[in-house]
Amino acid sequence: MSENVEKIECLIIGSGPAGYTAAIYAARADMKPVVYEGLQPGGQLTITTDVENYPGFPHGIMGPEMMENFKQQAVRLGADVRFGMVTSVEFTPGGPQKVVVDGTHHIEAEAVIISTGASAKWLGIPSEQRLNGSGVSACAVCDGFFYRGQDVAIVGAGDTACEEASYLAKICSKVYMIVRRGEFRASKAMQHRVMNTPNIEVLFNSETDEILGESAVEAVRVKNNVTGELREMPIKGFFVAIGHTPNTDIFKPYIDMDEQGYIITEKGSSRTNVEGVFCAGDAQDKIYRQAVTAAGSGCMAALDAERWLSDKHSH
Ligand code: NDP
Repeated sequence: MSENVEKIECLIIGSGPAGYTAAIYAARADMKPVVYEGLQPGGQLTITTDVENYPGFPHGIMGPEMMENFKQQAVRLGADVRFGMVTSVEFTPGGPQKVVVDGTHHIEAEAVIISTGASAKWLGIPSEQRLNGSGVSACAVCDGFFYRGQDVAIVGAGDTACEEASYLAKICSKVYMIVRRGEFRASKAMQHRVMNTPNIEVLFNSETDEILGESAVEAVRVKNNVTGELREMPIKGFFVAIGHTPNTDIFKPYIDMDEQGYIITEKGSSRTNVEGVFCAGDAQDKIYRQAVTAAGSGCMAALDAERWLSDKHSH
């Protein structure tokens, strides 16, 4: 079997801003990185439209185009970017780290950078899927700006939903917050902020019955799950903030995570509990979740991996 094992220096799992930035730095440091793109090549930005908050693009850029640029930059510098999905791993402190791609291809890597990201959770109703990108969004910080001066709705009751509702309230004229229970999940401070914002109307015990509109969001119909009463509000933007799921399941037996599955990295670094395995981007960040912060942490991971490898080789 051993002749079928591909031995490499640096493996990067995932191809969002964190993965490609790690690849750019690793390639320039001559670590010959191999990147596996995963299920959603380019990551979450490929399902957004205009990106206006990534510095360096004064006129904004489309999410998919930005990720194609990231990829081309990594490839030009020597990264080996491959289509494929890491299906299982076997990590050992110090390595080599064993990884299987698509259930068949065996790799041993000296260093691994996990940048598998997170996926937004969705309500799962058909109109949400149909109008995704046409008024339905899972990221207020990314897309709120397009609805300035207009009415919007947001679903969720956690810290993210409260933070995003407050953010939207500054830009939009009115924010309906759809909360499924009779109370928030968010911290008291965040709840307080929401309840004290005059243009946020919280609808407790409420569920989204339907998002209305043919080719763009025009209204939302909300059902009170105590009284059964239906209410329709005209809106232009519908935001879903019901949590994210980090794509970290396959690492669970080896890597320390919090109770939600976010990988725990050492403070101020990208090091995980397994020596030689590093993590960057949303797989380890449930707070900021921005392309620019993910890219920054991808840079950190490549620099940490480079230093770790050169220390290892010099001993
Ligand atoms: P959470 O899991 O904390 O909250 C998810 C919310 O979505 C809950 O209120 C839940 O309702 C609701 N929800 C889930 N599914 C549905 C559904 N199908 N329909 C309607 N509502 C639904 O996720 P967050 O993203 O808010 O936060 C994740 C973590 O990150 C938390 O630990 C949070 O504290 C932290 N965080 C901290 C921040 C900060 O400190 N500034 C900022 C952002 C996040 P229910 O309550 O009924 O279960």
